[in-house]
Amino acid sequence: MRDITYSTIIEPFRIHSVEPMRMTSRSERAERLAEAGRNLFGLHVDDVLIDLLTDSGTGAMSNEQWAAIQRGNEGYAGAPSWYRFRDSVRELFPFEHLLPTHQGRAAEKILFGVVGGPGKVVPNNTHFDTTRANVEFSGAEAVDLVIPEGHEPRNRHPFKGNLDVAALDQLLASRAPDVPLVMVTITNNSGGGQPVSLANLRATREVCDKYGKPLFLDACRFAENAWFIKTREEGYADKPVADIVRELAALADGMTMSAKKDPLGNIGGWLAMNDDALAEECRTMGILTEGFPTYGGLAGRDLDAIAVGLREAVDEDYLRYRIRSTSYLGEALEKAGVPVVVPFGGHAIFIDARELLPHLPPLQYPGHALACALYVEGGVRSCEIGTVMFGMGTDGVERPAPMDLVRLAIPRRTYTQSHIDYTIEVVTHVAKHAEEIGGLRMVTQPKRLRHFTATFEPV
Ligand SMILES: *Cc1c(COP(=O)(O)O)cnc(C)c1O
Repeated sequence: MRDITYSTIIEPFRIHSVEPMRMTSRSERAERLAEAGRNLFGLHVDDVLIDLLTDSGTGAMSNEQWAAIQRGNEGYAGAPSWYRFRDSVRELFPFEHLLPTHQGRAAEKILFGVVGGPGKVVPNNTHFDTTRANVEFSGAEAVDLVIPEGHEPRNRHPFKGNLDVAALDQLLASRAPDVPLVMVTITNNSGGGQPVSLANLRATREVCDKYGKPLFLDACRFAENAWFIKTREEGYADKPVADIVRELAALADGMTMSAKKDPLGNIGGWLAMNDDALAEECRTMGILTEGFPTYGGLAGRDLDAIAVGLREAVDEDYLRYRIRSTSYLGEALEKAGVPVVVPFGGHAIFIDARELLPHLPPLQYPGHALACALYVEGGVRSCEIGTVMFGMGTDGVERPAPMDLVRLAIPRRTYTQSHIDYTIEVVTHVAKHAEEIGGLRMVTQPKRLRHFTATFEPV
């Protein structure tokens, strides 16, 4: 017979060890949610069936990663694990200096602790929340410059994460001395996991060169972004993903990374750069919070797990499955008439709760109300990205966020197609009965980052 390409895209792995999930009843879930103050962050994982709260650190490691953990060496300085980690990072990101950190935000804290400060301004396509928090904590201003299409949930632009290069040029024309560096987040997490094209990064690089500014990547989802370049950007279809990643890296002067995302670790991160003087300062800061620069807040075994995970992250069978399985969920929901953000991002599907629940005003938290209903009706835990998360102004006045979304984030290599089919069934059922979902009122909230601990009751 002829060699054909089958259309079913399967999980490119078989299950090696299992983690049982406990089935729960609707009434049990309603009780647990009420006990948790109707905050999904307050639930015990044993009471959750399908956990789509985040893709951060929640992925499944491979047999090779677990084997690497056994090889981990815990020498304080110069451990073999460090050299394996360094070599694996350099294969993709050949920056001169590499500082491991315990998470991505630790890399941000060190970087902006050195280059930030009052009067400074940091442009980015969209700052991730911890990035923004670290820029602002230093006293600097964080400016988001994503292209206008990036704010339109229904716009099918293939690279909605692109930076608005003209806006960057304008900012630098007026405030160049205040800008320590330019950052680009790949993929644009807070903008829906939308990719940045190589053409856009090249144009960004040109503007940086024009003003003599370093360009840093927030590279957490570099492999997913590279896959989108391979499949959407002209001229890259036949290029290996690892080469595309190296091309992205070659345009930058440094990077921050959370190894809990594409590098397939459960913990870890790093900061890397070419500039010797900056690296010296960062290394000194890193010793204060992360430890000696050859382990940086991580056990040797974690460095080894990341070293292996990085190579698996650019495997094209894995990436084809990864991106396909996310869009599989998105396509099914779209077909069922559920309003979703398009095109589908790499790591998550976003439901437009404001559109699905038009009877709820934003200050009755339609996103959070929908997320609660998905849990009660089917045990699916998701995350509100809307007025609960962003609605409190620095002036203490509450206002509707620009959008009320519910994010279904897909942990890497963790759920099978039947888990996703079940999720589709739950979301479709809840969407069909959307008018029965009531609004919520916030009962208690902390001063900052209220979405983690606020409590609610029905209106
Ligand atoms: C997760 C994330 C971070 C922060 O990384 P942590 O490991 O969670 O501290 C920074 N930027 C982006 C884009 C992220 O997705």
